[in-house]
Amino acid sequence: MNDVMVEVRGVHKSFGPLEVLRGVDLTVRTGEVTVILGPSGSGKSTLLRTINHLEKVDRGRVSVDGELIGYRGARGRLYELKEKEVLRQRTRIGFVFQDFNLFPHLTVLENLVEAPVSALRRPRREAEATARRLLERVGLSDKADARPRQLSGGQQQRVAIARALALEPKVLLFDEPTSALDPELVGEVLDVIKDLARAGTTMIVVTHEIGFAREVADTVVFMDGGTVVEQGPPAAVLDAPAHPRTRAFLSKAV
Ligand code: ADP
Ligand code: MG
Repeated sequence: MNDVMVEVRGVHKSFGPLEVLRGVDLTVRTGEVTVILGPSGSGKSTLLRTINHLEKVDRGRVSVDGELIGYRGARGRLYELKEKEVLRQRTRIGFVFQDFNLFPHLTVLENLVEAPVSALRRPRREAEATARRLLERVGLSDKADARPRQLSGGQQQRVAIARALALEPKVLLFDEPTSALDPELVGEVLDVIKDLARAGTTMIVVTHEIGFAREVADTVVFMDGGTVVEQGPPAAVLDAPAHPRTRAFLSKAV
């Protein structure tokens, strides 16, 4: 495994006339937690989506675990992986969405077994054993046979995290994992993410939870207007921000 897990260099991305990423650089080291903060519309989700190859970059490059997944040079020369390679890469990049995205017609256990069996060709029995172990890890052993709609939002999000882990990802991306939850359910999801951090899981977490960022992040990245305005250890970015835009954001957030 490489020392650097995710590297984003000079990435630009537009949707029609709207330039959403304006030259983003980001380095995520293996085993570290990067928390991305920033106002709505600053490009946080789009950045995550380029890392997962759900969006192609217009310019710049993105690599994961030393493997280039997208590149476009200044003269527009395009390099990108073949579709099959993209799918292979994507199975190793876990993505946890704001609204859980569980398969509603499958049980909790089946939600965790589906992708390892179909995408990684794991034997079903082995995938089920792994799934039960992961459910235990997120405190939901007793929910294996439940359907997602029978669970609280916090429980559904913990299932979604276990499902992402079932693919043994190299890196886990979280896009506002607690934003859709009632306040009393936020803590149980953040606790699972904290456990993963302690276990050395490489993660990029987009969130508005400043306390969580302070506690868990190795690096805090503040984005605004499609650029990284400031980044560094939590004590620097959160407690002594250098940039006025970071200060303005933080003063409104707490
Ligand atoms: P954030 O996650 O920081 O709120 P996003 O990356 O979701 O920001 O979006 C940044 C901007 O890009 C927003 O103005 C949004 O409306 C726009 N945008 C995002 N995705 C698309 C898309 N597929 N098509 C058009 N505009 C988009
Ligand atoms: Mg977003």
